[in-house]
Amino acid sequence: MRNPSSPVVSQRIHVRVPAKINLALCVGSRRVDGFHDLSTVFHAVSLWDDVVAVGRRDGRITLTMSGEGSELLPCDETNLAVRAALLLREQAGEPGLGADLRIEKRVPLAGGMAGGSADAAGALVACARLWGLDVPPGELLALGAQLGSDVPFSLLGGNALGRGRGERLHPLAGAVPLHWVVAAAPDGLSTPAVYRRFDELTAHDGLVPDSGVPTDLIAALESGDPREVAPLLRNDLQAAAVDLHPGLAATLDAGLAVGALAGIVSGSGPTCVFLCADERHAGAVAGGLSSARGVRAVQRVTGPVPGPCAAALPVARV
Ligand code: ATP
Repeated sequence: MRNPSSPVVSQRIHVRVPAKINLALCVGSRRVDGFHDLSTVFHAVSLWDDVVAVGRRDGRITLTMSGEGSELLPCDETNLAVRAALLLREQAGEPGLGADLRIEKRVPLAGGMAGGSADAAGALVACARLWGLDVPPGELLALGAQLGSDVPFSLLGGNALGRGRGERLHPLAGAVPLHWVVAAAPDGLSTPAVYRRFDELTAHDGLVPDSGVPTDLIAALESGDPREVAPLLRNDLQAAAVDLHPGLAATLDAGLAVGALAGIVSGSGPTCVFLCADERHAGAVAGGLSSARGVRAVQRVTGPVPGPCAAALPVARV
């Protein structure tokens, strides 16, 4: 990482970072470090948090947030965006660098769509640009992985296979837009609690966790045909999320009842996402779901969309 050339204090940098859904989340065994081995197909969708960084001379890093769930989040050093800015500054070895960060949240909080990771990714990119740091994309992804398993994908966007705890990425082909309806729940779910419940359920049922790569889904994604993709969507955390949040079963049923091709809990939930045939179909499914019990808000999105560092890695065959 090169040192800053001449930080322009009045500069304002704006970065948009997309939410993710997991088209497949294949969860393996719990590792000694407490994380689970994963194979996951990430898909970035057109629901963004906006991160703005403005320079300041006194070396302070401040944060203000507005929008979706922001009143529930601290704006201190525990916030992932502030942690990201502090980590970047430490790596640059320039303790005098300062910034005012502003975040407009749209990604549901604790909804399984990696909103916190999006904010961390946005803060990394915005501060690197603001401070004139020439950070190679690989280094940015590595810093992101220190902040959270989903942060590297938030930087990259598009479609990608994630291995390890999700941070080892292989970008995937498949640029044909897929149409989704996102149904947000009235509350959130804690990711660690969902993984704990997953461990209990698999042990109880004598199941062997399987983190094999979902090659059929990856091929279907490349075809871009939603009818091929629909039956291959898979979330190994879904049973645990539904067990902790039983209302999700009714939401998934409601989406299918109004004609979605498939419905799945997004990541650790509780947001549910429904695959539709095209834009018009998504309009009809969204209309049908908007009055469903247990659904707080409904949005139509498409994917894949690029992240702020979309060109960081080449598309790979897996
Ligand atoms: P995960 O990436 O663990 O699946 P999620 O997508 O379900 O998380 P997030 O909205 O990322 O949910 O929030 C997870 C938790 O991260 C929050 O409950 C909050 O305690 C913490 N957090 C810290 N900073 C942020 C931030 N800027 N935005 C959202 N959450 C944050």
